[in-house]
Amino acid sequence: MARTDDDTWDINESVGATALGVAGGRAAETRSADPLISDPYAKLFLEAAGEGIWQVYLDDELPAEFSDVDPQFEDRMRAMLGYTACRTKFFDDYFVAAADDGIRQAVILAAGLDSRAWRLAWPAGSVVYEIDQPKVLSFKTATLESHAVDPIASHVSVGIDLRLDWPTALTQAGFDASAPTAWSAEGLLPYLTADAQDRLFNRIQSLSAPGSRVAVEAFTNEFFSSESFARREKQTERYRQAAIKLGGKDITESGNLLYEEERTEVVDWLQAHGWTLTAATTADDLMAANKREVPEGLDAAVPESVFVEGRLP
Ligand code: SAM
Repeated sequence: MARTDDDTWDINESVGATALGVAGGRAAETRSADPLISDPYAKLFLEAAGEGIWQVYLDDELPAEFSDVDPQFEDRMRAMLGYTACRTKFFDDYFVAAADDGIRQAVILAAGLDSRAWRLAWPAGSVVYEIDQPKVLSFKTATLESHAVDPIASHVSVGIDLRLDWPTALTQAGFDASAPTAWSAEGLLPYLTADAQDRLFNRIQSLSAPGSRVAVEAFTNEFFSSESFARREKQTERYRQAAIKLGGKDITESGNLLYEEERTEVVDWLQAHGWTLTAATTADDLMAANKREVPEGLDAAVPESVFVEGRLP
């Protein structure tokens, strides 16, 4: 099934299941020997989500079927786990710094199974709004409640599609557009069309008081090129083969979840709209800075992205 303008999903299907993949990466990193980040809740989500390819993240050893499909599979998985760990740390550090500088309102767009409201050291008076599809957020909060895990910041779920009128829903949930906000868009933009991405940033802008900040995992137009798309297709086919060998579902049955179309580069958009860039670090540089370089000879192991932070004066 291809994407449609009004598609919806639960945690274990279509775009929702991608949140389980990222939680899997955080669970694996958390139990590794020298973790960059700690997310003790990621594992709980995988356990609660039932059968699916995401269960492979609960074991340290990859099933042998994976290397049968591609001898480089394990290296590819490790590179992607490194990417996820570095990305998580980038956004963790961003929110902690914004809170240290006095910002008390955060909005996590496409929060998925992000557990920052439950695991970062938010100062008293902090409010974290999370926006995602209603079923994704209710799966997350129900799982954490069933383990009696309370948020550290005040947490407000805003279950709505980001292609709908989320600014009204956010405001009705208590968001204060006159206060500075720390926004984030992590693991989101390729799931939106180019037009929907522009609309998202226009809306962020209209809700941002002076002193607001935004952090973005910005996928470059190289990521959206036909060459990169072809490389990703090959990678998806490897995952598909591996999932089928494991006796699981055909993970490609949801079709391509990404909108493979060129779009405004986020750094250009921010600079054109009065935001000062305080970070614009390529994935390669971020991974090198964290000693998680992609090994030589692995093409297209991680997305062509830039980790961006912008601030309004
Ligand atoms: N930001 C989270 C993280 O890094 O762990 C989740 C990333 S996951 C790859 C993508 C998330 O985007 C999913 O939780 C999905 O439900 C959400 N998402 C994608 N398109 C969306 C839309 N139009 N409206 C609301 N949520 C959306």
